[in-house]
Amino acid sequence: MLCGIRCSDERKVFARESTKEESPFVCPRCKNELVIRKGNIKIHHFAHKPPFNCSHGEGETEAHRRCKESIYNNLKSKTNVTHVDVEADLGSLVADIYAVINGAPVAIEVQKSNISVNEITRRTTEYHKAGISVLWLALFNDRLNNERYSPGAWEKWCHAVYFGRVYYWLGESTVLPVHFSEYHLYVEESTWFESGGYEQSAGGYYKTSKRYKTPVPGNEVDIATHFSPSTKNEWQGGTVYIPSCRIYLDKQRAWWK
Ligand SMILES: [Zn+2]
Repeated sequence: MLCGIRCSDERKVFARESTKEESPFVCPRCKNELVIRKGNIKIHHFAHKPPFNCSHGEGETEAHRRCKESIYNNLKSKTNVTHVDVEADLGSLVADIYAVINGAPVAIEVQKSNISVNEITRRTTEYHKAGISVLWLALFNDRLNNERYSPGAWEKWCHAVYFGRVYYWLGESTVLPVHFSEYHLYVEESTWFESGGYEQSAGGYYKTSKRYKTPVPGNEVDIATHFSPSTKNEWQGGTVYIPSCRIYLDKQRAWWK
């Protein structure tokens, strides 16, 4: 986690602005003691002092922390964005970033490797109840440049929720929406002779892959400018379940049609 509570004045402080001499610090959720991690390369952060039994900050990677800090710093500098908070305690959950953008309350969630679709669904429902639009972001990976890509369960879920787009964070408040089109596999033609000398053949056509998709990127968009709140009704299709929700959606028209 980027922030902890400094016991001397009970203020929420960033690890990067704090020193070990200001200890102790406690976790904003469980109130147990934290250790401060400061180095030359890694993003300064706090971690629970073991043993602990609290999920706040767990499953975060260096890339995840870097993303949160970068978005937070960028939104702070925008005049149309207010109430910017990182690791924002909203009662029933903690948002990676919370902000009011053009008057609309928005929670920005950066995908963690260990988060399940059930957990994403649960959190999205909680935001809906609180009247907050949610923007789920993933970290960009180079495999998205390939013609063939195998989206994970949560990417499929985001794709269904955000009307055929998944948002990948590029830097600061810039994200890349990616649509996943069908990927066609070529089935090789083969011929053989049946008893009696009749020639048979099969294949020689394309079929739609169940596993692979082709990433089709749209234009890069800015969180503070190119998005607006939208609602989505409950929906179920195949293995994907989407609760009624408020989403933060970019205004770009579908670019893959
Ligand atoms: Zn904790």
